[in-house]
Order: sequence, then C-alpha cells, then structure tokens
Amino acid sequence: MKVVIIGNNVAGTFTAQNIRSLNDKVEIEIYTQEKYPYYTRVKLPELISEKVTIDDLIVFNEEWYKGKQINLYLGKKVNKIDPNSKLIQIEGSDSPISYDKLILALGSTPNIPPIRNATQMKEEKKGVFTLRSIDDALEIKEFIRKKDVNKAIIIGGGLLGLELANQIKDCNLDTTVVEFFPRLLPRQLDEECALMLKEEIENRGIRVILDAVTEEILGNGVVTGIRLKGKHKLETDIVLIQAGIRPTIDIAKEANIQTNKGINVNEFLETSEKDVYAVGDCIEYKNQIWGIIPACMEQSKIIAASVLNLKKIDYKGTTPKNTLKIVGLELTSMGIIDPTKEEGGGWEILKKADKKNCCYQKLVLKGSKLKGAILFGDNKAMSYVYNKMEEDVDREELKKLLELYSYVCNKCGSEYDEVKMGILFKDLPPDWTCPNCKCSKKEFKIKNNS
Ligand SMILES: Cc1cc2nc3c(=O)[nH]c(=O)nc-3n(C[C@H](O)[C@H](O)[C@H](O)COP(=O)(O)OP(=O)(O)OC[C@H]3O[C@@H](n4cnc5c(N)ncnc54)[C@H](O)[C@@H]3O)c2cc1C
Repeated sequence: MKVVIIGNNVAGTFTAQNIRSLNDKVEIEIYTQEKYPYYTRVKLPELISEKVTIDDLIVFNEEWYKGKQINLYLGKKVNKIDPNSKLIQIEGSDSPISYDKLILALGSTPNIPPIRNATQMKEEKKGVFTLRSIDDALEIKEFIRKKDVNKAIIIGGGLLGLELANQIKDCNLDTTVVEFFPRLLPRQLDEECALMLKEEIENRGIRVILDAVTEEILGNGVVTGIRLKGKHKLETDIVLIQAGIRPTIDIAKEANIQTNKGINVNEFLETSEKDVYAVGDCIEYKNQIWGIIPACMEQSKIIAASVLNLKKIDYKGTTPKNTLKIVGLELTSMGIIDPTKEEGGGWEILKKADKKNCCYQKLVLKGSKLKGAILFGDNKAMSYVYNKMEEDVDREELKKLLELYSYVCNKCGSEYDEVKMGILFKDLPPDWTCPNCKCSKKEFKIKNNS
C-alpha cells in the first residue's frame, strides 16, 4: 500500500511516524512546498531577533526521514488532487503521482482582516508582513535590517501577536500592539486576567491599544502608518499582521471534497472522498478548528490507525491548551475559562487573584470535573492541571493547590472563605472588620480543616 501525505509540518510528519510505527511495510511519501524538513514554528519570532538559527528550529532532519523509510520531497507544491483516479499533480511536473491513501496535512495560513491596502502591500513587499514560515521570518528580519526601521505595529493582540511583539521590541524597535477586541487574548483570558497581562506587557515597554479597528494601511512606496476607525493615525515603518489563521483548503475544495472553514472530517479523520483523510490545522471537526500542536499530535495517532484500517480510536476533539512564551511571563490557559458562555448548570470557579504579585489562578469545574484553567504568574498548579483536565478532582485538594483558605473569627466563629469571596484575606483593607461582631482583622485565623 502507498500512502501519500501532503504537508510536512507537525501533522504530516507525526502521521508518517505513527503509520511507520504501526506498520513497517507501507510505502510512505511526503510532498511539501517548503524547502525545509519538519521545523517548529513556535520559535519563529526568535529567528527575527536572532536568538535562534534555522538549525535550532529543525526538529527532524532529512536523515531522520531516511531512517524511517519515509520518502520526503521538499519544494514540491501539489496543485491538484484527483480522488477518482487516485492521483496528485505537482506544480511544474507532467507526471502525476499515484496513491492508495491520501492524507491532507495542508495546515493553515495567516488571516488578513479586511484592512484597506493590507493584502496588496504585503504582496508587493511594501512593509506589511505576516509570520508563518522560516522564509517569512527571514524576510521580516531583512526588511528591518535594510530599511532603517524604527517603529513597528503588530495588528493582533493574541498569543502569537504578543510573542512577536516581544521579539520585535528586543530588536530595539518602538513597538505597538493594536487589538480589535477590548482586551488581550479574548479567547484565552477573562477580563480581570487580561488587564493584569496588559499591565505586564506595557511594563516591558510595549504599547497596547485595545478596541482599535485598523481600517487602512498608509503609504505609497512603503508603509508609513495605519489609520484606525475614528480617523486616528499611528506612524510606523513596518506592519506585522498576526490576526488568526485560515485553514488551507484550496486543493481539497477544487477536488470537490467537502469543506467549510476547514476540510470537513468525521471522527476517524476521513474526508467526504474515499481514501482521502485530513489532519492538523487544515481540518474542521464538529464546526471547530484548532490551530495548535496538541491537536495535531492527537489527531496524528487517530489518522494512522484509520489509514491502516485499524479504526480503533475515534476523535473527540482536543481541549485547547495555550501557553504564552515570553520569558518571565508565565501564562497558560486551558479548556473552558468562561462558564457563562456555556450551556447547563453545575459550574463552579475557584479563583485566586493576587494583583500585588501579579498572579492569577482560576480553575473551572463542572460538578467534580476539571474543565478549564487560567494560570498566570504562578505555575505551581500546572502539572496537576495538565494531568487532571476533564477528570474528577477533589475540591479541597484544589483549594490547597491554589493556597486558598477559609479564615475563622476567634471571637464569634464567622468564616471568611477566600473561594466564595473572590478577594484574598490579605488583600482586605487594614480597617476591615468582622461583618458579624465587628472585631478587627487580627482576630481571624486560618481554619484548620483536618
Ligand atoms: C509563530 C507561530 C508560533 C506558534 N506557536 C505555537 C505554540 O506555542 N503552541 C502551539 O500549540 N501552536 C503554535 N503554533 C501553531 C502551530 O505551529 C500549528 O498548529 C502547526 O504548525 C500546525 O501544523 P500542521 O502540520 O497542521 O500545518 P502547518 O504547520 O501549516 O504545515 C502545513 C505544511 O503544508 C504545506 N502545504 C500546504 N499546501 C500545500 C500544497 N498544496 N502542496 C505542498 N505543500 C503544501 C505548507 O506549506 C506547510 O509547510 C504557532 C504557529 C506560529 C506561526
């Protein structure tokens, strides 16, 4: 049997590796338009600030593929697939390639919002960029070096936008992040934590403008600024757009494979066409797209079993897990972080907000199950949360983990429960008094549960 995979990043490569570990006989070929073997995109912003080299990004070199008997073809763009005759066509070649099973691991591309001049100025290389690949990073680095760039604007205050802004700042550029929503990381954080993060980002010398709709990119020969809704203008020498992703669906759609936002797949990652599968950023399953590495990894195991007709595992979706990778800024968000947007009752929140120490921890439970978490400024609970997500947890254990306590008044026995009150006891003002007997804060001691 011959398996052909299109796309060679995390989804394509791990699918090949998982197929090989289940079966040492099938022929595996990977075709990808990029010229590098599998590299991580996670550190691309650091390639711009020259903290890493291309070699540092390569996860598996070409020898690794040879050792696994996986035939890797770099620099090959597939421009047509034909599920009826089971053939694919490489751009610039007259000889189609046959397959028995075809896997689309096409990934995604940066989304460009409807901003006047954005797409055109990006295509004409007039100082507007997106960051997805090594080549993008090299182009940005070169532009900054050659064009005497002093000011940068990053459109998009999501994880990638902030990580990019941090590295751009490290290139000694005056750096501004412009965010459409009224807070940073709207999908990963609640309002309270987003405000704390904003302060931390600004403390690093990065300007943050929220609730700002970019309408136009200004400049003729080269970018000179942006115009926000309300006519406000900001000067800049470079614009970096980091505003979400679009799954790559082009060749699937042209082959009449069912697509919506992504390539539609069932629980075995089969597309609407027989013997054609899809995996990674390019898929849509139950109206959801992921765009994160843990989803690609999980799906690559399922698809391997599926392609080999083992069909043992069905995909149930992946709990979103996101970590902000800015040195000195610990931030992880997982699962459901805002139960008010969810259906049904039984939700509970355990929260610790320590503004003085810039630390915020929030755990979301449904019944006894851990459904989501935000951990900012303190990673102590990280491994527990990672291991227990979607599992039954003990509420008292969680309280201990977050160091949340109940305090008891020595005089009247009234309790102050930090979980219920949402404010840490130490953060109550010094003149706070017991709501029952009016004695002072000093009369309260931590309740011993044992
Ligand atoms: C700057 C940056 C930082 C990131 N940081 C994180 C992080 O910290 N954590 C995390 O979980 N995720 C992160 N991500 C997202 C993560 O990189 C993606 O989820 C992951 O790369 C998706 O893998 P994939 O294999 O599905 O697709 P892709 O990585 O997009 O790879 C698909 C490949 O297929 C190729 N291809 C597409 N069409 C064709 C064709 N017709 N012919 C041939 N080849 C084709 C593409 O060129 C590409 O090389 C980050 C992404 C970026 C850009």
